[in-house]
Amino acid sequence: MAGKQILIVEDEQPIREMIAFGLRRAGYEVSEAEDCIQARERIADRRPDLMLVDWMLPDMSGLELTRQIKRDKETREVPIIMLTARADESDKVTGLEGGADDYVTKPFSPRELVARINAVLRRALPGGDEEYVRADQLVLDQAGHRVTVGERTVPLGPTEYRLLSFFMTHQDRVYSRSQLLDRVWGGNVYVEERTVDVHIRRLRKALADFGCDRYIQTVRGAGYRFSTRPQ
Ligand code: CA
Repeated sequence: MAGKQILIVEDEQPIREMIAFGLRRAGYEVSEAEDCIQARERIADRRPDLMLVDWMLPDMSGLELTRQIKRDKETREVPIIMLTARADESDKVTGLEGGADDYVTKPFSPRELVARINAVLRRALPGGDEEYVRADQLVLDQAGHRVTVGERTVPLGPTEYRLLSFFMTHQDRVYSRSQLLDRVWGGNVYVEERTVDVHIRRLRKALADFGCDRYIQTVRGAGYRFSTRPQ
């Protein structure tokens, strides 16, 4: 991912410099903005490959900036990671629903931030609809419409298959129940949010026989995430 340009939008100079230092050391090119107006100027100069946006900015909230970036067709594809000092899960959900691709809670280590950036950039790479998607020993065979571990096929109902297939193609990111309903059930208004929990339970049960149920992680107050990394 070296050579990618990352725009840091953060008004607190020491934090901004600390992040910039860590990212440059990891091989990224960095540009900086201390408010939303400067951020717009930087974007107009050169569209970044990814943006880090602080939640609390002097001229406009980072959430509002994120919404604007995601509404504009010129910048819609730019991945955004929100930096938040807020530990409140509902704020994280608001951030993700506002269009952020991920969030990192302060204080974070430069290593953790670089790992998140790498994960988000990997997801943003073209080729997201490849035939096979891997998550450790799980292999999603999109053409064959099945998930396998080695020679064995994981026995899944149609909804569990759609859910797992969505998770495997959107790894390391939290989705709220309503987002999952939207993306996996197609926003059928007659389906209740607790239906999601029922299918999550079934999916975990199917994966447990393969020792993979731990990948389906519950994020308290926020929703669910699929990740092969420990929670
Ligand atoms: Ca701030």
